[in-house]
Amino acid sequence: MRYQPLSFLNIPYSLKSLPLNGHFDFDEIHHAASDFGNRYQFLPLAVLHPKSVSDIATTIRHIWQLGPGSELTVAARGHGHSLQGQAQAHRGIVVNMKSLSGLKMHTYTGKHPYVDVSGGELWINVLHETLKYGLAPKSWTDYLYLSVGGTLSNAGISGQSFRHGPQISNVHQLEVVTGKGEVVNCSEKKNADLFYGVLGGLGQFGIITRAIISLEPAPKMVKWIRVLYSDFATFVRDQEHLISAEKTFDYIEGFVIINKTGLLNNWRSSFNPQDPVQARQFESDGRTLFCLELAKNFNPDEIDIEIENLLSQLSFVSSTLFMSEVSYIEFLDRVHASEIKLRSKGLWEVPHPWLNLLVPRSKIHDFALEVFGNILTDTSNGNILIYPVNKSRWDKRTSVVLPDEDIFYLVAFLSSAIPFSTGTDGLERILNQNKRIIDFCEEAHLGVKQYLPHYTTEEKWKAHFGKDWEVFVQRKLAYDPLAILAPGQKIFQKSDPHYDTRPDN
Ligand SMILES: Cc1cc2nc3c(=O)[nH]c(=O)nc-3n(C[C@H](O)[C@H](O)[C@H](O)COP(=O)(O)OP(=O)(O)OC[C@H]3O[C@@H](n4cnc5c(N)ncnc54)[C@H](O)[C@@H]3O)c2cc1C
Repeated sequence: MRYQPLSFLNIPYSLKSLPLNGHFDFDEIHHAASDFGNRYQFLPLAVLHPKSVSDIATTIRHIWQLGPGSELTVAARGHGHSLQGQAQAHRGIVVNMKSLSGLKMHTYTGKHPYVDVSGGELWINVLHETLKYGLAPKSWTDYLYLSVGGTLSNAGISGQSFRHGPQISNVHQLEVVTGKGEVVNCSEKKNADLFYGVLGGLGQFGIITRAIISLEPAPKMVKWIRVLYSDFATFVRDQEHLISAEKTFDYIEGFVIINKTGLLNNWRSSFNPQDPVQARQFESDGRTLFCLELAKNFNPDEIDIEIENLLSQLSFVSSTLFMSEVSYIEFLDRVHASEIKLRSKGLWEVPHPWLNLLVPRSKIHDFALEVFGNILTDTSNGNILIYPVNKSRWDKRTSVVLPDEDIFYLVAFLSSAIPFSTGTDGLERILNQNKRIIDFCEEAHLGVKQYLPHYTTEEKWKAHFGKDWEVFVQRKLAYDPLAILAPGQKIFQKSDPHYDTRPDN
């Protein structure tokens, strides 16, 4: 095949002449140069609104045929909730995956139920659809207004991961459009290298257009529990006990509370203290506390005596047991309630300099001592999540990069910056704090890996992937040799000599 050389000026014309069911938009492109992180803006040349999978394949095949001489790249945009421009394409094409969500979802009941969904579908819609059959996916993210393709390109971690693994451990099959414009079905049995490559593959090997996701019977209700610890060692000991126990909760997370006044009063609107008199006397002010967050699914007709038994094995501060009963959907969609509140105060669309780390279990005490005891002593600018997961529930064949231990912690610093502030809630201060945390992890050789990683040099990406770098590069050469896909991840560049000297094939 010979590449077709084309000057940049002809490109819009050549794209417009492609036979598509959907269309390109060359004018309304500004929203595609933004994301949740609110820090990076790369204007694309056009946004593709595909109506079918073949629209995406036709577009990528066309760009593939233009060869390395064209600077055109393609970024799938799920819900654009990336933090550093990962779903953007400077002067390239952004594919609005949501316009594919017109493709119907199909739920299959039976012994091993599953749902077949578009890669652009939001998880909240998957939940609503599968609940019609009394079913639901097993593994979640804390927030459901994210696309299936977007979270499967990372991992999809939440409080169910300790048991079911991340979302990428709960997928049976994918349909993918590769960087050559080929539409490929893949699974553990068929095109397995592409299947595992794409899962956690940061969008590098193909655009996920369909996914078959494992389901389980959905409970109706959830007992949602929060308890507090003032001692970090006791907190993590209890967390690790719970994720390893056979009989345990259905959801296990935790967070760090730094210097919060009136914290328990805030909870009172949605959580009831078990002992209101004692809870009122508990002083949270000025201290660093650790909150264990748990959930147990149940159906109203079941009598459950397990919760008390499970709680009795824990060593939290006894006056701080808070409990709430909510519907399953209300529990899973809990972050959306906060989103609505923050939006109403103009605090949702602010810069989000988030930092997500995976910390090996053996180093979590060293990490906590320095980060919560030294770097972040005064305040935090958003939630700090911390909870352990079992690595045995992750498939080694996927592209996601993990620490080298059987149990590791997700530690997520979910900061919001106040625009133009020069105080502790200003962007520069938070970025500086993040850097101190990263530098400490590196200098102390903690073996920490970034989740939702962001690096801008090949050297740093190599260090991130470690021994898996070669496999990642080989997969890139196999499925996207011109480096057309997901340029916003900044792992490979289309002009990279590695990728632009490919001979005719
Ligand atoms: C409020 C909030 C809460 C979150 N909570 C969690 C959480 O609990 N657990 C967790 O694991 N993560 C969480 N995340 C992170 C989230 O999973 C990732 O940022 C995810 O990529 C966002 O999905 P998206 O659809 O917005 O992806 P986008 O930002 O649109 O895309 C992300 C990357 O994936 C690529 N991509 C998008 N769609 C596809 C596709 N169909 N095929 C191939 N590549 C594709 C893009 O090109 C880009 O590189 C959270 C993010 C936010 C903003």
